[in-house]
Amino acid sequence: MKRIILACALLTLLFCGCGEKAGQSDIITADNFQLDTLITITLYGYGDEAVFNDAFDEIERLEGLLSRARPGSDPDKLAKDAGGSFVSVSAETIFLLEESRKYSLLSGGLFDVTIGPLASLWNIRGGSGHYPSKGELDAAMALVNFRDIITDGSEAMLKAGGMEIDFGAIAKGYIADEVKALLIRKGVKSGVINLGGDVVLIGGKPGGENFRIGVQDPLGAAGEYIGVVEIAEKSLATSGNYERFFMHEGKRYHHIIDPKTGFPADNGLIQVTVITNDAVTGDALSTSAFLLGLEKGMELINNTEGASAIFVTSDKKVRLSEGFSDLFHLTNKDYLFLQQPGATVKVISGRDTSGIYKLSEDREIIINTGAGKNVVVISGGFVRMSEANCPNGDCTSHKAINKTGQQIVCLPNKVLIRIEGE
Ligand code: ADP
Ligand code: MG
Repeated sequence: MKRIILACALLTLLFCGCGEKAGQSDIITADNFQLDTLITITLYGYGDEAVFNDAFDEIERLEGLLSRARPGSDPDKLAKDAGGSFVSVSAETIFLLEESRKYSLLSGGLFDVTIGPLASLWNIRGGSGHYPSKGELDAAMALVNFRDIITDGSEAMLKAGGMEIDFGAIAKGYIADEVKALLIRKGVKSGVINLGGDVVLIGGKPGGENFRIGVQDPLGAAGEYIGVVEIAEKSLATSGNYERFFMHEGKRYHHIIDPKTGFPADNGLIQVTVITNDAVTGDALSTSAFLLGLEKGMELINNTEGASAIFVTSDKKVRLSEGFSDLFHLTNKDYLFLQQPGATVKVISGRDTSGIYKLSEDREIIINTGAGKNVVVISGGFVRMSEANCPNGDCTSHKAINKTGQQIVCLPNKVLIRIEGE
């Protein structure tokens, strides 16, 4: 039996590049083990290290309030009185119950914070894992239903005895937002808060540049990444099947459980990273999208205002949500962009279509027009113009394209490349 915990799903690349204004002395950083993970806070251009204690104290307070493993926490109180009576809970818990309900409805019941009995049964988070019997599964599944949470003002109740709230998929994001708000109140203008994979950015780097955040390679060692997101101010949350799992008879059982089957989600996705304005949304969305699978998960992200995502499948394909291609750079050569199955590359020369090619098949296309020669390369799901002997030589400076509707135009040679279809 093997259990691995990756401390950071997202690696912050704190490159101190040439010409960067902030020297090492302007950066302060602190680590702590909380929330069952490693927390790292890095601040730029802020001199008072006492602020770290305030941040860690706030995490401690919220963990005590929201973690079901903590005696006296709200989930603990709710579990003790489940099937009995209402208990008075904190405003934070009421907020998280309401947010959670939203994602339960959006995911068709897959995201469900009453997952507690199933999560305990599999014992992946707190222990070494347990492969349950059919009887155990049936008993636990009968206790999972978000509709059996009743709230009334500042009170809440779980309808049936044995029910249990597990905020594991959403609390970390909420806590990250609270820590960010606290640091901003203390005057922090630039920083990175990494709560074991949920990364929250305060502003950009000093000088206005974006942070470079590495997205973990789900099949690599901790700190190896598939690509880089260049971004400021936002939050990144990752859900994956590699972070917390155990092996049983050669198969991996991880900690994100489908309440409809009672088993860990098994839909071909191995990681989803979601970028949002606030971390609580990103945390809930990444787990929801992971449970929904590639197609439905992508639909959820594309329908959520302000959210973008990077999906990774078990066959090392990467798919980005709409309008996101400029922010994420795939750097790991083991991974390829996954295209819509039917996407094609149309090559038009003058008034004629000179060819239609599959975006998923690598090839080189040479176009000879009266004005000159153009070479178009389709590779790894991207199209670019590698060569063009047009008079001004500009045609090759277009960016590589990979999305339906994007095009490359070489005006002097009257050549148009356009991605079409789904
Ligand atoms: P991480 O905790 O590694 O950041 P997630 O945000 O995806 O990963 O949360 C996974 C946790 O969510 C699990 O450890 C468990 O506590 C909880 N959980 C598992 N299955 C579900 C589910 N179907 N709905 C809501 N929460 C879940
Ligand atoms: Mg989550």
